[in-house]
Amino acid sequence: MDIGLVAPTMSKIKIAVLVIEDEAPIRRFLKMTLTSNGYEYSEASTGQEGMLKVASEKPDIVILDLGLPDMDGLDVTKQLREWTSVPIIVLSARGQEKDKVDVLDAGADDYLTKPFGVAELMARARVALRRSITSASGESQSVFKFGDVEVDFVKRQVTVLGKELHLTPIEYRLLATLIKYADRVVTHNHLLRDAWGTEYSGETHYLRVYMAQLRRKLEKNPAQPKYLITEPGVGYRLKVS
Ligand code: CA
Repeated sequence: MDIGLVAPTMSKIKIAVLVIEDEAPIRRFLKMTLTSNGYEYSEASTGQEGMLKVASEKPDIVILDLGLPDMDGLDVTKQLREWTSVPIIVLSARGQEKDKVDVLDAGADDYLTKPFGVAELMARARVALRRSITSASGESQSVFKFGDVEVDFVKRQVTVLGKELHLTPIEYRLLATLIKYADRVVTHNHLLRDAWGTEYSGETHYLRVYMAQLRRKLEKNPAQPKYLITEPGVGYRLKVS
């Protein structure tokens, strides 16, 4: 069984995944991929059935299609988030940027755009699991490292190759939010809210400017960023794994 980056103490427990998806070929693909990677697989083809199974089976991850026959994936996410923090990875079609943003803002953890590959799926699942394991254990780090960058949250200090870097308060808050959600997508509105405040939602051009500044300060090649990744139409992701 290969469950990759999951903590060794969990390696003997099968991770349970519930797939809520109405398209049978996609369910078949997910079943094959997930079971061959050592996950326990369960499925539902409607939103209602899916929500009942989340309650009765208590899966470790939910993979949720946005377009379901009986209800919208967004409503499923909202209803689930009323009582559970189970990681939710949303499946969306190309061009559904607005829907992706809404469902992420409603509390979904991440998304995959169809068609997606096995490696991408497994990477997203690992990140979502790691997030739920760390938040369950209450573990948090005061120092975060990626590439040559080290962020010390206690000292509020950022260094690159040991050399202290000056960040403006907004740049620092943006970076801190991206680190908090490392490897997960963070929506434009979420970043604006954290760095500037609620009244700035929609002002995505501010973000472009500040992300460009952060890249210049943190990336070796700001034109081809390795860490501060743009998710077109949705937001940004700090890629560290
Ligand atoms: Ca569908």
